[in-house]
Formats: sequence, C-alpha cells, structure tokens
Amino acid sequence: MFATAPTWTTERLELLKTHFAAGLSCRQIAAEIGVSRNAVIGKLSRLGLSRERSGDEARPKKPRERRGRSVPRLQYEMLRQVYDEAAFTEAPVVSERRCSLLELSKERCRWPVNAEAEEFSFCGNTPLAGMPYCQGHTRLAYRSLARRAG
Ligand SMILES: [Zn+2]
Repeated sequence: MFATAPTWTTERLELLKTHFAAGLSCRQIAAEIGVSRNAVIGKLSRLGLSRERSGDEARPKKPRERRGRSVPRLQYEMLRQVYDEAAFTEAPVVSERRCSLLELSKERCRWPVNAEAEEFSFCGNTPLAGMPYCQGHTRLAYRSLARRAG
C-alpha cells in the first residue's frame, strides 16, 4: 500500500498514528519513530490528519471511487438515450455500405450482417458519434444489452 514510501513501514505507520492520537508533537513523534520531523508532517497531511483542528476527530479520507465502472455505465446511458429517441421506429436497419473486416474503420458501423453467409460482412453505415454502431444497430445493441440485464 505504501510501497512508494519506504520510510513508512507498517510498524512505523502504526506508531505514527498511536503517537499522534496520544497528542505528541510532530517533533516528539519523529524522535520516537526515528524519522525526520518533515517526514512526520508530510505523512500526517497525506493521511488527512491535521493538528489545526485538534478538536475534530481525525477523519480518514475515503479513497476515491474507482472510475472503471463508469465507462460501461456511460455507454449504457447513451444507448438508452438513443433507444428512447428511436423507441417507435421499428423499421429494419438498412445496411447500404456493407464492408469486410479489413474495410472496417471508425467511420463504419461494425455490426456483423450476413453472419450465416460465406462472405462475412459488416454493416458499414456511418456510426453515431462515440459509438461503434450506426443508429439502427446501436438500438439493437441496446436491446440485447437490456435483455441480458433484465
Ligand atoms: Zn449499422
């Protein structure tokens, strides 16, 4: 956890917290643990412990929520938006610019069509901004997503 700060072994960290809780000054803590006073001050501030409001209980900062989850969530929201807009459009998706795997690019919808045919091809329509699929296929993608989620 504190691998980047070799000064602070788990043991020293515990001592730091104990001494801090006991009300020792930074200088005293430093002497007790055997590190520099600056190191103690720096560590205390990194831990969110501060002398300034000694009346308050030291509140450890909550680690920030990992952002990894928000990306698919965002995509889901986008899909839902698209779906809501197109909720009453039941027309089949027309892929007029079918292309092969090699021809795929960011400008072409990568929804596979003709999956049963020998010549596997992709939709190739202009995709929605930020999406891998055109509007029609984004809608289809959302449906299967919603089906899986529900
Ligand atoms: Zn498409």
